[in-house]
Amino acid sequence: MGHHQVLVVGGGAAGITVAARLKRLRPGLDLALLEPSTDHYYQPGWTLVGAGVFSLEQTRRPEASLVPDGVTWIREGAAGFDPAQNRVTTTAGQVLSYDALVVATGMKLCWDAIKGLPEALGQGGVCSNYSKDHAAYTWEAIQNFQGGNAVFTCPPMPIKCPGAPQKIAYLADDAIKRDPALATRSTVIYATATPGIFGVPTYAAPLREVVARKGIDARYSHVLTEVRAASKEAVFSVKKEGEGPREEVIPYALLHVTPPMAAPEVVAQSPLAAASGFVEVDQYSLQHARFPNVFAIGDVSGMPNSKTAAAVRGQAPVLVSNLLAQLDGGKGSGSYDGYSCCPLITGYGKTIMAEFNYKQEPTPSFPLDPTVERWSMWWVKVNLLPWLYWNRMLKGADHERRFIPGLPAAR
Ligand SMILES: Cc1cc2nc3c(=O)[nH]c(=O)nc-3n(C[C@H](O)[C@H](O)[C@H](O)COP(=O)(O)OP(=O)(O)OC[C@H]3O[C@@H](n4cnc5c(N)ncnc54)[C@H](O)[C@@H]3O)c2cc1C
Repeated sequence: MGHHQVLVVGGGAAGITVAARLKRLRPGLDLALLEPSTDHYYQPGWTLVGAGVFSLEQTRRPEASLVPDGVTWIREGAAGFDPAQNRVTTTAGQVLSYDALVVATGMKLCWDAIKGLPEALGQGGVCSNYSKDHAAYTWEAIQNFQGGNAVFTCPPMPIKCPGAPQKIAYLADDAIKRDPALATRSTVIYATATPGIFGVPTYAAPLREVVARKGIDARYSHVLTEVRAASKEAVFSVKKEGEGPREEVIPYALLHVTPPMAAPEVVAQSPLAAASGFVEVDQYSLQHARFPNVFAIGDVSGMPNSKTAAAVRGQAPVLVSNLLAQLDGGKGSGSYDGYSCCPLITGYGKTIMAEFNYKQEPTPSFPLDPTVERWSMWWVKVNLLPWLYWNRMLKGADHERRFIPGLPAAR
């Protein structure tokens, strides 16, 4: 049985960030990373892949180039958690023990939960930026669109990057409107399971204006249940407050699907899970409610924040300081405020940089009104954020919340 002081499970955005920060602050730490993938993707870039701005290759780096020096990389997945014994079993049957565990496996995409979707995806205009295998096809489908309904769906929460399902609708709408004749024979429909356009009221208000200005047909409380590829129909279950459920069938020429998401089974079926299936951690300390030497970060963690890579930027310094205090036999005082950021792209060259915390208060990093669509924030999304991800966050750097030091936030 192998033993490590710290075992990090998952080497995506969260796992690499935590491993890098732990090694930066304590170089002598014996740290192992359990991650089966040989490629690492910058998933926030997939919206831009689907819009023809980035290639998929621009979002990929070999995992080996990101694993920090001195970290033992075990190229397997976790197959079972036994936190009472401080043990993890790997997919190859190894048993690993640890002094402290970090769970960072991300979320599972439930393509199978929608009837007909797995077979339909990747052809006939059915696409999804949520899959590395199909994000490039979104751009192909937009370019091949000849009119009719372009339908964009959003499932019930929680999902990663709750803004992404509508960003691609705005980008596709822009692309369609470049050809006025095409625009007259097209309808862009945003069909979302949520009761409103966005969960944070400060940012929902300008988004409602965007939807109205563009003439997008927004349909709320619409849950996609089936894709009928042969007849090009999307089937929704619609349940509005005070009304009984009903079925609605929307014909499509283009269908962009965001699938429902859940915690991976290996986590959901383990003693680490809360009733939701996500890891049961304290929302401020990121420490497990029942196993104090276990922490969780990123999409698999059970905090009520908006699940984004930006949230990981806020979580990692807190988790690392609390974990090191735990290893030293003390109690950490790091506290996560729920910071998350969703760069709400509202068209080519336009972005509302939505930053907020648990209290749904705006927490802008720039001294500008964050509710305004700006070209500068598009530039930040396309250039600065990917640079920050690869060169600062994944290297375990401090969390830069104010990009212009010393200047107060606008509000
Ligand atoms: C289309 C799209 C757009 C997005 N847009 C944005 C955006 O604009 N801004 C933003 O901040 N965020 C955005 N996100 C969200 C962001 O990518 C995620 O929130 C972030 O990647 C979460 O990091 P994570 O490490 O928790 O999960 P991931 O990055 O998904 O990594 C999880 C890792 O765990 C590994 N793993 C899984 N199971 C096991 C196992 N059993 N054992 C070991 N390892 C395992 C996986 O191989 C993977 O490497 C977007 C995501 C998508 C898909």
